[in-house]
Amino acid sequence: MKRPEVIIVGAGLAGSLLATLLGQRGIKTLVLEARPDPRRHGNKGGRSINLALSTRGRTALARAGLEDQVVADAMPMSARLMHDALGQLTRQPYAKDEQQAILSVGRGLLNATLLESAEQTKSVDVQFEQSVTGVHANGQAVFLGEQSIEADLIVGADGAGSIVRQSLENHGYCQSTTEPLGHSYKELELPPVDGRHALDPAALHIWPRGGEMAIALPNPDGTFTGTLFFADDTFKSLRDPTAARNHLQTHYRSMLSCVPNFEEQWSENPVGFLGTLRVDQWHHGNTVLVGDAAHAIVPFYGQGMNASFEDVRRLDELHASGQTDLPKRLFQERKANADAIAEMALMNFIEMRDHVGDPMFLKRKALERRLGRWMPGLFTPLYDRVSFSNQSYADALRRGRRQDQLLRGLQRLGLAR
Ligand SMILES: Cc1cc2nc3c(=O)[nH]c(=O)nc-3n(C[C@H](O)[C@H](O)[C@H](O)COP(=O)(O)OP(=O)(O)OC[C@H]3O[C@@H](n4cnc5c(N)ncnc54)[C@H](O)[C@@H]3O)c2cc1C
Repeated sequence: MKRPEVIIVGAGLAGSLLATLLGQRGIKTLVLEARPDPRRHGNKGGRSINLALSTRGRTALARAGLEDQVVADAMPMSARLMHDALGQLTRQPYAKDEQQAILSVGRGLLNATLLESAEQTKSVDVQFEQSVTGVHANGQAVFLGEQSIEADLIVGADGAGSIVRQSLENHGYCQSTTEPLGHSYKELELPPVDGRHALDPAALHIWPRGGEMAIALPNPDGTFTGTLFFADDTFKSLRDPTAARNHLQTHYRSMLSCVPNFEEQWSENPVGFLGTLRVDQWHHGNTVLVGDAAHAIVPFYGQGMNASFEDVRRLDELHASGQTDLPKRLFQERKANADAIAEMALMNFIEMRDHVGDPMFLKRKALERRLGRWMPGLFTPLYDRVSFSNQSYADALRRGRRQDQLLRGLQRLGLAR
């Protein structure tokens, strides 16, 4: 390929969708990806196996003409199903319109779909096993070891450990902080029982236990992917699979009963880090950061990928409109939104972990949905704003806060029954 117009560093979820969108407009794009091609080698050491896709992500996929294909491969989840310690279930619809659902999508298949469509455009050259080592101090070229490649636009879509961001930091153009959550995660597979899902496949399952929790999302092949979110100290104290089994037997019995080879999975599956990455500036010269490279967040609103896809959609819209100074403009538009979803994801951790089993909270949520149905123009629950709309995250957070105060006031007056 001659000098590319755009270089994308990283062919993960954000990078491969951006490559598709640019390629569809005939923009000569070079994608450099450190891993081998996941379509041939599988997703080695990949992160969460499935992800919740919602409206923002779907809107970006629709721009690339891929929404229907991705939805066809997904599992709709219209409610949370809470499992209490005694095995009792409580169902909580996600949206005021109970037909609306978030979708469980497989990371590997989604990434493969996006890579296929990027390569089909013919304007995109995806090169695997190419680890970018940094960006030039002028922000106009990337380094692959000794080699340097220039482009009009360089997009760092290289995830939470972004080399592009680290390089900008080393040149003194930005600063970042990573705030550890203090909780980490471990995934467990819940296989099918008699060829069918072990749990209701139309829901996202939650085991809230105050201070820690577990969730499970369905996959089309009949499995569920369960995720345990424990304090770091708890994981340390449960290194021995027998101690871990006892912990799950006490607190997550209904989940444990769905994991026949628990000891094996506990020993083999890694513990993953969770934290919030904040970066004060995402751009320099022709270079801009998107997705987790700019704003990795904790996964409790199911919005990391959705927010990354929204970055990508806006980048493509600005690029298509001929926006000058695109890196700066994208940063100015997206930064407040990234900060807002980071905050809401942390709020939702507390909500899922501690409150979804609390009767007062459940009543407030039910009132919220009723108000949403009675006054759809005036009252929209925060979850709907975040997951079932394209309203800016910053605006959703502002309005959500006002509504929460109103709901608490109504509850004090005894109206939330
Ligand atoms: C447990 C968990 C659950 C989650 N659940 C959800 C969910 O339900 N919904 C949701 O919306 N989000 C979820 N997320 C968040 C989501 O996974 C991320 O937000 C999303 O993957 C970000 O995409 P990305 O393309 O920015 O980064 P990545 O997907 O991390 O892709 C980065 C790519 O860059 C490549 N790369 C790295 N360094 C280099 C280099 N030097 N040179 C070249 N290439 C490089 C990597 O190999 C990788 O392919 C979850 C995250 C976790 C950890």
